[in-house]
Amino acid sequence: MNCIFCDIINKKANAEILYENERVAAFLDIRPVNYGHTLIIPKAHSENFLSVSEENLLELIRITKMISGAIYKSLNPDGLNIVTNNGIAAGQSIFHFHFHIIPRYKDDAINFKPNLKSYNNGTMREFADKIRTEIFTKG
Ligand code: 5GP
Ligand code: ZN
Repeated sequence: MNCIFCDIINKKANAEILYENERVAAFLDIRPVNYGHTLIIPKAHSENFLSVSEENLLELIRITKMISGAIYKSLNPDGLNIVTNNGIAAGQSIFHFHFHIIPRYKDDAINFKPNLKSYNNGTMREFADKIRTEIFTKG
């Protein structure tokens, strides 16, 4: 399997690694939205949020928080976006699970805001019922 993030973990590809431990690694995104844009990945290859193991996900969240604090202190941004794209339709381009930490500045002119929809009569309940049914009939 060809995976650039696995190559980075295995030191077959270069990256500006900020931190790593047994389970996870954090490195700078090569095409940053803003400078300091960081990716946090599990070392075990896993395609997306649903397939990554709970142990690795917990560690990813813990380290994402730790690195977020370091970015705040070192780069002094006005805010951070912490996001994960799952699936081609959601903009995922590297199919090794990762969180993005994106430093944001008041006037950085970056706009992730979509045109928002409204629910029409009763449809909000319908959507909620579909999801609730799945949650409560599960396994
Ligand atoms: P996605 O689009 O899957 O949410 O995010 C993948 C990210 O990986 C992109 O922001 C892209 O710039 C970054 N990326 C792709 N290839 C490389 C690489 O070889 N090295 C590094 N450091 N980042 C990469
Ligand atoms: Zn991989």
